[in-house]
Amino acid sequence: MSSKLTIGTVNVAPGEKAYGGIETNTSVFGEKEIIPIIVVRGKKDGPILWLNGATHGDEPEGPYSIFMALDDIDPESLAGTVVAVPVMNVGAFAAGNRGNPLDTFAYDLNRVYPGSPDGYPTERIADAHWNAMKDVCDLQIALHSGGEHSYLAHMIFATDNPQSMELAAAMGPQWPLVFPSPSGGGNPSSMIGNLGKAGITAELGGNCRLLTSDFDEIAKDLRDSYLNVMRHYDMIEGEATYADEWMQGYQQALLAPASGMWVGSPDVKFETMLSKGTELGKVYNVYGNVTGTVQAPQDGVVFGLRSRASVLEGEWCCFFGIVERTVDNLLP
Ligand SMILES: [Zn+2]
Repeated sequence: MSSKLTIGTVNVAPGEKAYGGIETNTSVFGEKEIIPIIVVRGKKDGPILWLNGATHGDEPEGPYSIFMALDDIDPESLAGTVVAVPVMNVGAFAAGNRGNPLDTFAYDLNRVYPGSPDGYPTERIADAHWNAMKDVCDLQIALHSGGEHSYLAHMIFATDNPQSMELAAAMGPQWPLVFPSPSGGGNPSSMIGNLGKAGITAELGGNCRLLTSDFDEIAKDLRDSYLNVMRHYDMIEGEATYADEWMQGYQQALLAPASGMWVGSPDVKFETMLSKGTELGKVYNVYGNVTGTVQAPQDGVVFGLRSRASVLEGEWCCFFGIVERTVDNLLP
């Protein structure tokens, strides 16, 4: 337990916190670009937890909540290691876009794992991140939100293995929606799950909630979830808390029936069971006529809603969760 742990450019001994990066592509100035990382290695042995933020550059909830969490993690008392990756996709984050606008061929970093060392620029970033993480990660949490076009409320997609279900449950009582996600999805959670480890993707927030106290509230919610995970795995002191039971099922994207302006129904509640046929929103044309409505296709929950009003026919308006079962056995 005395030897150094190496991740990217960071060499960290027990009881240390270090800053550095995972080298990726070469810039036009000939310098190596990096994915910035902060590694906090506890004095005591324990699991290695990766917090991966801003895979999508328009989702700053991951970075902000990671910064908050780092304030609360002390290497002196920590058991295990936290590898914090606030911004995985630096080019996308700088542009405030989902993907890096300089890479038009492999735009979405969350679809190209494990990447390729000689592929498109975004595939090279995936490859560098994956190779830095795959052998030194026990628990992986990828942070996502609705970004610039939507709001997403407390949804976990957990790779369909017991390790990932346990990690999802460890996020705490505010996360009762845990939908299994098939492995092989081209994203880091799925890839880590394929190795028999724990990988989850947590969705919370959206650009419509980035102002002052709203952003603070969402980031604290996520920060508290990471700390709950760390309590569950005995990385920090304290008792973890959990949901009593979890809803499981699959997501269904509800698409706009017409082009125009999307307006969600004022009384729709997130994360609450709704009955089939509940009206979720309307689409108006530019003359003020309602040209389509979106309804709950079955009994289920709304966990995501469009927050950008302009919409084209066929674009998504609502992420709807079809709940197939309620379980109480995600914890071993
Ligand atoms: Zn995302």
